[in-house]
Amino acid sequence: MAILKHTPPFSYFELIDLCAQPGCPLCRLADKTVDRAIIILFDDGGVVDVDVRAELRSSLGHCPQHARYLIDPQRQGSRSPLGMAIVYADILKEVGRKLDATTYTPGKNLPLDKQVESQLNTWFNRPKKQPNAAAAVRSLQPEGRCPICARRDETIALAIDTLTTKLGENETKLIDALTASDGLCLPHLRQSIAFAKQPEVLDQLKRITAGHMQQLAADLEEFKRKQDYRYHDEKLTDGERDAWQRVVRFMVGTAL
Ligand SMILES: [Zn+2]
Ligand SMILES: [Zn+2]
Repeated sequence: MAILKHTPPFSYFELIDLCAQPGCPLCRLADKTVDRAIIILFDDGGVVDVDVRAELRSSLGHCPQHARYLIDPQRQGSRSPLGMAIVYADILKEVGRKLDATTYTPGKNLPLDKQVESQLNTWFNRPKKQPNAAAAVRSLQPEGRCPICARRDETIALAIDTLTTKLGENETKLIDALTASDGLCLPHLRQSIAFAKQPEVLDQLKRITAGHMQQLAADLEEFKRKQDYRYHDEKLTDGERDAWQRVVRFMVGTAL
């Protein structure tokens, strides 16, 4: 992964530090990784690298989510968009080359998403098999994955591997940091359980998460109770005020 050499590697101490920040520490790490990967695209160091550009030609740029990030003026800050212009001019040429090379050839059904295909078939009474430009459509699809998604997923996999190994070793520093944190979101809890190499890791994850969930449930109860006119004079604590947002974040995580 060419983008790898331009972004700093994950460190265990970073994970410990992230436990002290609000939200799921792995979601925070994912966000930081995405931000770092985006920064290098605005930086000459990344875009002049032939491997980075080849990777982006293969993926035809970024996934929709990260592409929206890239064009967000707030994320761009004071950085020059020249790097982005260089990279995407390259990708545009690649699409042009592919489009030039497309031909109309007999083939099977268009390789569409199954749900989309069945909707199209229903709405337009589209024949199931048709001579079509399947090869042309295929040639215009990305071959590689969005490099930012790939970098994020690799970093999180490394972090979860470290986290579960340290939990298995009963590493107090991590256990204390994780217990004091806002806890793992459900998607990252699932991934961590999948990485657990021994039953003690699952036990630790269950125990730590149960503590966070109990606190969340208690805050939600208090939030609901204080909406009642009889208790309306009782002030919400900070934890109770955003409990309804925290529970949504817990279910899906916040990593993009
Ligand atoms: Zn998370
Ligand atoms: Zn992506």
